[in-house]
Amino acid sequence: MAEFGVAAPSVEVAGDKSATLTGKPLSVVALRKTYGDVVAVDEASMEIAAGEFITFLGASGSGKTTTLMMIAGFCEPDSGTITVGDRDVTRLAPQKRNLGFVFQQYLLFPHMTVHENVAFPLTLRGVPKDEIRRRVGETLEIAGLSGFGGRRPRELSGGQQQRVALCRALVYRPPVILMDEPLGALDKKLRDQLQVEIKSIQQELGLTVIYVTHDQEEALVMSDRIAVMRNGRIEQFDTPRELFERPRTPFVADFLGAANFIEGRVERHTDEHTLVRLDQCGGLLTARRHALAPGTAVKAGIQPGRLRADAPDDGFCTGTVETATYVGTLVRAGVRVDGGDAPLLRLEVPAGRGPVTGERVGISADPDDVNLFPVEQGG
Ligand code: ADP
Ligand code: MG
Repeated sequence: MAEFGVAAPSVEVAGDKSATLTGKPLSVVALRKTYGDVVAVDEASMEIAAGEFITFLGASGSGKTTTLMMIAGFCEPDSGTITVGDRDVTRLAPQKRNLGFVFQQYLLFPHMTVHENVAFPLTLRGVPKDEIRRRVGETLEIAGLSGFGGRRPRELSGGQQQRVALCRALVYRPPVILMDEPLGALDKKLRDQLQVEIKSIQQELGLTVIYVTHDQEEALVMSDRIAVMRNGRIEQFDTPRELFERPRTPFVADFLGAANFIEGRVERHTDEHTLVRLDQCGGLLTARRHALAPGTAVKAGIQPGRLRADAPDDGFCTGTVETATYVGTLVRAGVRVDGGDAPLLRLEVPAGRGPVTGERVGISADPDDVNLFPVEQGG
């Protein structure tokens, strides 16, 4: 592990050639990796454009690190191809891929100064001394570390050390920078701050980044596109907005926003809408139009922030507020829907209009916020 991203004894001197990459820095086709019976990564495919910030998001064990390690070259795929620029790198040694890495452990050289640590990849590539000094200076400045060049890693905080690791990865302008939970070891406040910093450096320099996290909020804040991973598969690869507004599976709806699911059956369609007869309360829920045949059993996924609690005679069902918790500007309410024992519907409403415990309410939602998922028969 200790040499990731810096061990390159016989490195190809790529110089700035890598910075001239155009349109398509990285493409992955049908990547697969098994360990015995465990399918760690299953047919993962994606194309990443120059300057994109991509995140692999998923629970522990979903295949994020394995996918990243195959792209990096530290783990050999069973099958599939990885292309960087227009070069097939699938069977190439890591140092020949010329990618940058930042990991959760900072992995700085303890005996070297900050300046020397950041200079290391350039020294390795035989870049002239003056040029090294200039580029290291520039990079440290971007990361807010000017004046720290003479310190040793142990004289820095965790956040500063991670910034040095970031500088070392980006100082030679690799075509793609890979980061595996780089903020995982830091406390929440520092993590929030560094998220913003990494994002703004990425945008300023137009870097192409693949970032791994299990934290939905971190993924939503930082990414242009997110690959939601589950059991080694990419469940959906989309913009944060698409994932949140148009999840393609109940898993994505739940993972990104903790959606409520309400069961029913498609009754009919109008020009713009699909009407669903709800199992529990018998109410009619209006969703935006979905291509689902009448009679199809469905789950309607609706985010807590997209449900409204109005007067009891409004909406697609009625219920009683069982819980109401103030959380800053919001009230989180749990509503027991009439007619059955389904789990409480979870609502998030502005505090000013918050419902109170015991209140009778009617629940409604904008049809555009209702995502319908067919219920697999027998599943
Ligand atoms: P993540 O980074 O999303 O937590 P990983 O890519 O590390 O997930 O792991 C995916 C799956 O592959 C897990 O089931 C994990 O136990 C398994 N796995 C990963 N690396 C190895 C390995 N070297 N040997 C055996 N199984 C592994
Ligand atoms: Mg991992």
